[in-house]
Amino acid sequence: MKKEIGNVLFKSINNKNNSIRLITSTNNSSNENVGLLGIKELKTPKGWEDLFHKKNEKINEIRDHIIPIKINQESTIEQLKETLYYIDGISRELCDLMDPAQFVMNVIPYGPHKIESHKAFLKMSDTVNRLNANSDLYQLLLVIRDHKHYHQLPNDHQLFLNEMIKESEVNGINLKPKEKYEIMKLKDEIFAQGSMFIEQSLNSYKHPPNVTLNIPYSSLVGHLPLKYLQQLPPKKPDGNVPFIPTDYLVAGILKYIPDPNIRYSVHRLQSISNCYDSVLNHLVQLISKRYQLAKTLGCENYSFYELKNKLLKTPTQDLSKEYKEKSDEELNKLIEIKKRMEPNNPNNDKIFSFDLPFYKNQMSKEFYKSHSLDKEELSQYFTLENVLNGLNIIVNKLFNSQLKIVPMNNGESWDKSVIKFNLLRNDENKTILGIMYLDPWERQDKATGCVNHPIGLGYKKFKILKNNLKNNLKNEDDDDDEYNDEYNLPKCSITCSFTQNNFNEPLKSKLQHSDVETLFHEFGHALHTLMSRCNFQHLCGTRGPTDFIEIPSTLMENFSWNQDLLQQFAINSMGKPISNEMVTNLKKTRNLFQGIETQEQISLAFLDLKLHTVETDKNTSTNIGDTNMSPAQILSTLHQQQIGIHGTVSNFFLTSFNHLFYYGASYYSYLLAKDYSKRIWINHFDSGKQLNLEKGQFYQQNFLKPGASIDPSLILNKFINKNK
Ligand SMILES: [Zn+2]
Repeated sequence: MKKEIGNVLFKSINNKNNSIRLITSTNNSSNENVGLLGIKELKTPKGWEDLFHKKNEKINEIRDHIIPIKINQESTIEQLKETLYYIDGISRELCDLMDPAQFVMNVIPYGPHKIESHKAFLKMSDTVNRLNANSDLYQLLLVIRDHKHYHQLPNDHQLFLNEMIKESEVNGINLKPKEKYEIMKLKDEIFAQGSMFIEQSLNSYKHPPNVTLNIPYSSLVGHLPLKYLQQLPPKKPDGNVPFIPTDYLVAGILKYIPDPNIRYSVHRLQSISNCYDSVLNHLVQLISKRYQLAKTLGCENYSFYELKNKLLKTPTQDLSKEYKEKSDEELNKLIEIKKRMEPNNPNNDKIFSFDLPFYKNQMSKEFYKSHSLDKEELSQYFTLENVLNGLNIIVNKLFNSQLKIVPMNNGESWDKSVIKFNLLRNDENKTILGIMYLDPWERQDKATGCVNHPIGLGYKKFKILKNNLKNNLKNEDDDDDEYNDEYNLPKCSITCSFTQNNFNEPLKSKLQHSDVETLFHEFGHALHTLMSRCNFQHLCGTRGPTDFIEIPSTLMENFSWNQDLLQQFAINSMGKPISNEMVTNLKKTRNLFQGIETQEQISLAFLDLKLHTVETDKNTSTNIGDTNMSPAQILSTLHQQQIGIHGTVSNFFLTSFNHLFYYGASYYSYLLAKDYSKRIWINHFDSGKQLNLEKGQFYQQNFLKPGASIDPSLILNKFINKNK
């Protein structure tokens, strides 16, 4: 049996190159079951129901307490503020259930916790709908907004109030009961279709296209890396492999097999197979319901509805065109390689969808070779342990803090490989700032990709809520410090799907630099969650508009390319830091496909906006609006226009693009945020030359701490509009 991960790590590390190392706590955890994610109600899956009842009861109690409050012109400013804290108290109770439920639904494999969290989430969604439709609460908000003291309220209080009013209005508070009912119904349907879309797309590996293709084993071996070869069925006596086009194997073939006929055949199987019909149908239904929702709420379409509260105000605003030239240049280089490798192919002057992964990999291989870079050698420098040390160096430099690995309590974790960290201030008391879980490795039943989930936020626990509600609180086991005028301890989880390649010492597993960049991205979100401290939970941490909250994460990507930092944490097993030359060449790979990849992002952003702008065709279940095209066909057209890639995008790709549910009309956020964060990196951190406490604390105080409780454009002004 492996020992508890937190206790044994890092003992063997040689410290000579680096003074800042992750520290591991050796405290033994007690045996008491603390509940999943440290939530005491979740000791068993049935606990979700208890959690729902407890939270729902508190919500009703707060609601019943504030609705009779008569705010009138005689009310004091303190009374106005208190009322707002109560209203946020409601939203806090909601999120105490909905945040962890969303995490469990998206991350934890299918099982009792997933089923029960889903049920609890649906019930709580119903509570949310009822609150949004509560006209007494809405009237209370309006009275405060029209109050003579309104303008004396602190800015975050005004912002919170206006957000709540807006929220009620976009949820149809002013509509007639019949229309209100319609909205509630549509929202339920959107959630149901979206959940089915995600659920089925995550499980698509269980239902590959029901066809086999005979491929000569000899054309695969020598090209396909071992991890793919191991997944192939046994070779038949005639030398062929009866190939089943699972997503994983198709991805391997498209990237590594030089024979264009094989690539074309497997791509085509994936494109024409009807095994994705059901999941695509949920996608189209989801989009259709969103369109109806926007219309019922008086918006032209869903994109307009969604973008009302974003940095970008309308979907017609043009997205960057500056990368087209670079993208063309890169495409020409790919064509050059194709002409060289397929001299007799009459179509060797075009790159098709089924060519792109192969020729990108080819070009990248040639680039690595000509710059004496070796992926295997590079990965020696990026063990997970080193990368975590890198994050630790950053929090120390910028925030005088440290990440400390601590043992998981009994019942807290969902998999034995999850690592738990405390983020601590380097003061005398080692004040704890937040808790972060990291679930690093890919597993069969786990979604691919990386994501950060907030589980709890750093809102202020106003005593006032206790003083007035304590007599009615029915839960005697409530912690005494539940309302103590201090901040709630934030908690988040980063989930990744990196390939584990050291099973005895998981933290010695080697990562690719692209994994490093991804982990840094998610850590940027984590810092936003863990370092935010706000009066209102509704405005805390990563609660802001989607295009705003991608800024700290895309900003953090820059840190993973910084020469000084890399040389402090990217150290091989001989204790030798990565060389200057290697870093310089590595940095060149960052821009290798910058043009094409940006154009791909632009295509996806356009697809997302397009799908959420037009009405879905009522006659077919898979086509979108007046275009008479399927989502895959729309994306293929965009690829042709934006990048010059021919052929069709496979339906599989569409089913795996689950941002269409999570982001719905705001996928462009990545592009916009990347642009802003690049300017912050250059302006504020002097392109990485000024990674110090002064810069870090300014960033913490003015960006991370306020979360969304200051207008995002005011926050950005502090970092971007400097005359530098
Ligand atoms: Zn992100």
